[in-house]
Amino acid sequence: MTAPILRTLAELREMTRGWHRAGETIGVVPTMGALHDGHLSLVARAKELSDRVIVTIFVNPKQFNNAQDLENYPRTEHEDARKLERFAVDAIYVPDGAQMYPDGFATNISVAGLTNVLCGAHRAGHFDGVATVVTKLFTQTSADLAFFGEKDFQQLQVVRRLARDLDLGVEVVGCPTIREMDGLAMSSRNLLLSDQARSRASALNDVMEDMAEALGQGASMGDLLPDATARLATAGFSDIDYLEMRTNDTLRLIETASEPARLFAAAYMAGVRLIDNIDVPVVR
Ligand code: AMP
Repeated sequence: MTAPILRTLAELREMTRGWHRAGETIGVVPTMGALHDGHLSLVARAKELSDRVIVTIFVNPKQFNNAQDLENYPRTEHEDARKLERFAVDAIYVPDGAQMYPDGFATNISVAGLTNVLCGAHRAGHFDGVATVVTKLFTQTSADLAFFGEKDFQQLQVVRRLARDLDLGVEVVGCPTIREMDGLAMSSRNLLLSDQARSRASALNDVMEDMAEALGQGASMGDLLPDATARLATAGFSDIDYLEMRTNDTLRLIETASEPARLFAAAYMAGVRLIDNIDVPVVR
């Protein structure tokens, strides 16, 4: 079944009004398109937990800190709509830039604390852009539930924080990272890799899995980093923005796995910035 593609807020409101009147819950899956099985796992979860599902597709200029990255970002609306057919979602909301940020738009949502580390420290303004667009998408769709991937774990925590702080009335549901067969986390950015770079990129997850295992057995980050960074360099990663262990809830930097934590990495393969994070077992 082909879902209606809505491009204006007026059309969206018209549709959601009827659903609310009927007492139906609305689940929203915010995306930037170029949909892959990671996104589709969120859609499947949304279908399980909500009466109505809206997928949003908006390549949000405010969350790009690099004009070239924004320009290169894959845009595949036609294929995206086709991939969503089998899920029978209720609407695909595809606003344009003027719809989201009309002339004179002057509001910025900024979540303190959680955003000055990891990607926040390396991508100026990124999480303000995310927080602003997510707040708008939540209010525009009048969602009861919203589905986000652990692939972007820091983003998930930022969105949880803002939904609570601003009483948005949206339950934020985190969903596990979906991976390619070789362990590489699925990402729209993987489309930008050449075949050779794509096959080398799986080293990121390999290295992280080995680190997580050793951390769970009591090793410290300091013990592991020299070998880990050397392996990434050998695989062809040119720059590592970060490779750190942080607590799950507040993203505090830790050296040994003494409490629930994740290992976070961002690194460049052939000019493409890849990120990943995995759970670290707590040392007993
Ligand atoms: P994006 O289109 O990259 O903004 O991602 C839209 C949503 O899909 C975000 O909540 C992401 O965390 C989620 N997502 C992206 N890749 C994956 C993946 N490999 N597994 C699970 N969720 C993902």
